[in-house]
Amino acid sequence: MRQSLFRFLSPVGGFADVYLIETYHMSFDSLGLSDALLRALHEQGYDQPTPIQEKAIPLILQGRDVLASAQTGTGKTAGFTLPMLEQLDSSPRPASKRRPLRALILSPTRELAAQIGENVTQYGRHLSLKSTTIFGGVNINPQTDKLRRGVDILIATPGRLLDHAGQGHIDLSTVEYFVLDEADRMLDMGFIHDIKRVLALLPNKSKRQNLLFSATFSKDIKTLAGQLLNDPAMVEVAPENSTADRIEQTIYPVDKSRKRELLSHLILENSWSQVLVFTRTKHGANRLVQQLEKDGITGAAIHGNKSQGARTRALSEFKTGHIQVLVATDIAARGLDIALLPHVVNYELPNVPEDYVHRIGRTARAGHSGQAVSLVCGEERKLLKDIERLLKRDLPRCDEPGFEQSQADATSALLERSGRNSRNNNGSRNNRSIDGKNSRQRRPAANDRNQQRRRRAVS
Ligand code: AMP
Repeated sequence: MRQSLFRFLSPVGGFADVYLIETYHMSFDSLGLSDALLRALHEQGYDQPTPIQEKAIPLILQGRDVLASAQTGTGKTAGFTLPMLEQLDSSPRPASKRRPLRALILSPTRELAAQIGENVTQYGRHLSLKSTTIFGGVNINPQTDKLRRGVDILIATPGRLLDHAGQGHIDLSTVEYFVLDEADRMLDMGFIHDIKRVLALLPNKSKRQNLLFSATFSKDIKTLAGQLLNDPAMVEVAPENSTADRIEQTIYPVDKSRKRELLSHLILENSWSQVLVFTRTKHGANRLVQQLEKDGITGAAIHGNKSQGARTRALSEFKTGHIQVLVATDIAARGLDIALLPHVVNYELPNVPEDYVHRIGRTARAGHSGQAVSLVCGEERKLLKDIERLLKRDLPRCDEPGFEQSQADATSALLERSGRNSRNNNGSRNNRSIDGKNSRQRRPAANDRNQQRRRRAVS
């Protein structure tokens, strides 16, 4: 491993140590975790820590507050959960009638909360700590019963946590570890006031260890970090390891009216068995599922109008391979963690370019590779341009034979700028990159088959 330590002007004021991690070849044994945790990791099939784990775990074990820039799929959940479990397990529980709450993990979405909860259970299976997960959209009473019986670790979404706190079901004044996960999403989703209300219920920041994870560091995140963290160590994963680099990203220019047909064609032609598809609207997600079913492709939709039960069921059927396609809106898909998910499709591009990165980050998690396909019609060319500006590169275009975009759909200049709409002597389209070199993409079928073989080999 090569690791660089810089002294940096911290975003939260003063100087901070910044650990930039470039590669990783360490084993979990050297990180200072107990045998019980190492055994659980072995059972999970984790061989070595990911870069964020390698750096964050020792710092957290030293008792430092940490500000981590962690992209989705980097293994950040284990990065904060493992040292927290280690410390809770090795320090005595304060004497009290009821098990006092010692650790609070705040998550922006129900799905992410549920996944963190699952991870805490998996990693802590050989410890005697109790944890529970609470979020909205489901009956509050079973949650209340669990809270009343006492837990060491609570994973929560802000709204439901405040409901319970307001009703006196939980006392947050005993919290020793506070984790704010996906802080940028929290702010995007308008949770800042809820976060402030939660902070007011916690002990003073100097009396707890604080960890803040965020994919981006906006001015608002820096302000929040200043309110939350004591002299934090900053951890960043070097950009060359970023998830987006391991994802094979392809743009299929296509007429808006032919997107559904092209999607079915790609799924059937390439035998894609597990595809997460993003639409912009809830209604669009429902409609697409019905249309795919007419083509013999099994699917389910997951979005904010679905009950939590229906969302959980759809996700579990998708994970176990009972359905091929999960169609999701952005909010519903935040935090979705599907091990070895091979394909993400942007049926429609998101309005916010950062959401593109979050969407495609559902594949290629924890060092694996993945494929992200975007079906882009003429109306979406500005959205595509915004995404390419954010990524600081142009994404390769691929024309699927029989589905080439019509001139009427591709009316304006942006896609033509790359020269991809020009016709050759045979009247067929050329696929060109932005620098004008012919860069027609190989169709991804062979790659898909390899991925499927790999998936079968490890599952
Ligand atoms: P996260 O970024 O926390 O959402 O984790 C992404 C995925 O990586 C999850 O499916 C984890 O179970 C998996 N994961 C986390 N740490 C490791 C590791 N050290 N080795 C292999 N997989 C891991």
